[in-house]
Order: sequence, then structure tokens, then C-alpha cells
Amino acid sequence: MQGSIYTALADMIVEQMGIEKWNDLLSQTRPASGGIYTSGEQYEDSELVNILVLLAEEKNIPLEKVVENFGRYLFKKLYDTSPVDVSKLDNLKDFLLAIDQVIHAEVKRLHPNAYLPKFEYEQNTPNTLTMYYSSKRKLCHASVGLILGAAKQFNEAIEITHPECMHRGASRCKLIIHFKD
Ligand SMILES: [Zn+2]
Repeated sequence: MQGSIYTALADMIVEQMGIEKWNDLLSQTRPASGGIYTSGEQYEDSELVNILVLLAEEKNIPLEKVVENFGRYLFKKLYDTSPVDVSKLDNLKDFLLAIDQVIHAEVKRLHPNAYLPKFEYEQNTPNTLTMYYSSKRKLCHASVGLILGAAKQFNEAIEITHPECMHRGASRCKLIIHFKD
């Protein structure tokens, strides 16, 4: 996974729990990279997952919640460093619709080795947007957190339902975003 995800994880843990906690998580999970992450590099997915699993165990909260919380935090980092000028996207729905074909397309151009999740869209009613997430990583809860982070960025109230999930046997996750304004 892209190094920027790891630097965001390190930032989140250091900000929220201190540098000692970050060092402690590294010494317990023993990442092959040594835990020194650079945003342009690629790292093993397991290094990230092991840290999130350990955090969930230590805090006794469900892993999916830890992953979602990280997604929320991650949003701002990704938004602020987007390779595409996202300032012209002035509402959440337009932003979400741009992720797959505009933003991820550019990330892929810049980082050909990056593996990115695929999003497919369906717009059935004016107040909902359905996003189908698929990825070998099955980090759909990170996507939920990222979408919630985006809603905060655009100051829009939403609810997300997740009626079909790869963790429950579906071939892709169905995330329905309900716009409440
Ligand atoms: Zn899911």
C-alpha cells in the first residue's frame, strides 16, 4: 500500500496517543520495513493491518471501527495532498463521483504500482448515492470513514448504510450514502 497511508497512520497515532505508543506498536508488530515510512514508497499491507488489529485488541473495540476511524483521519491528509485540483468540487456528491475516474486515475498515473480500490456508482434518487467498493484488501470500513471525513470537509450531513459487504460474502460492498439536507 502507498506510503502516504502509513505516514498518515503514524501521524494519527502520534497525535492521539503519543510517540511512545507508536514506537510500542512498531516493536510489537515488527514490520519488515522497520516502520520508517516514506510517502512515495509501497509497503506490505500486513504492516498496516497488524497495527490496526493490535490497536483494536488493546482498546477492546471492533476492528472495523478502528479502520473506520483511521479512514476519517486519513481523509484530510489525502484531500490536502490530492494530485488533482479538488477545489472546484464544491459539494460532497460531485467529489465522491470524481474519486474513481478522476482522482484515482491521476494517482494511478503518478504511481503506476499503486493498487487502488474500484468504485462503481449508482444514482437512484436525488438524495442518495450508491458506491460499490471492491478491493482485494477489503478495507470497506476505511472507505466509510473516508466518506464521513469528506462529508465533514464539505459540511454536509449524511448517513451511510452498508447492506452488502465483502466480509459477509458479497463480491463487492454496497455503500449507500443518504444526503440529509
Ligand atoms: Zn464491506
